[in-house]
Amino acid sequence: MTMISLTILMICIVLFLLYTILKSPFSYPYFIHRFDVSGKRSPHIDDFLDTFLIDGGFTRIQSHQKVIEQWKSDSHQRIEKSILKNFRRKQYEQVLNDRAAFKFYFIRSQTRYRQRNYVKTAYKVKVQDGCFVYDFNYIKDRYNQLEDIGFECTLRKYHSKNQRKLATRELREKIMKRDNYTCQLCGKYMPDEVGLQVDHIIPVAKGGKTVKSNLRVLCSKCNGSKSDKAPI
Ligand SMILES: [Zn+2]
Repeated sequence: MTMISLTILMICIVLFLLYTILKSPFSYPYFIHRFDVSGKRSPHIDDFLDTFLIDGGFTRIQSHQKVIEQWKSDSHQRIEKSILKNFRRKQYEQVLNDRAAFKFYFIRSQTRYRQRNYVKTAYKVKVQDGCFVYDFNYIKDRYNQLEDIGFECTLRKYHSKNQRKLATRELREKIMKRDNYTCQLCGKYMPDEVGLQVDHIIPVAKGGKTVKSNLRVLCSKCNGSKSDKAPI
């Protein structure tokens, strides 16, 4: 009896050791970032990604790319040192996934209810609502495109056909404040805003964009004398 249990124990130990030795020591270092889209009806990943990149996210992307490179060189060293070279190389290649190195999730908080002893209590849970994966070059390319337009807005906004629609009350208010409620042509200061307009420097009709650098405050008189007037 003791012999049998001893043998079983030995087999278990051997199997455990084999498992520890043979299991993959590699785990790909994914970049993971979550966007809270609670309350947003149809969030667009491109807008969230661009805003993330504009707000300094690209620095994090770049440093993570370095982490991935480091992990690769460490893994190669590990393979070279191993006595099971080919086996380890296969395991490494199995987890290698540069194409989806950067993962972004949409998460939403939802209210759920628990009923106990006729008492209903609400509690919040975070649920995943979308997963988007990219490789480093895609993100880098996107960042370069944003850089080309001075990080002024998201690419979708920049390429939107309806530039006038992007001139929101909020943006208008920002331009008024920036230009200190002063007509940028004649210098008239009108703190009550009446008679002031926000103007596209390059008209929308000529490809001008609704971005801060292309907007200015004009009084209605100066705006009226512009050839291609485009008050918003
Ligand atoms: Zn003026």
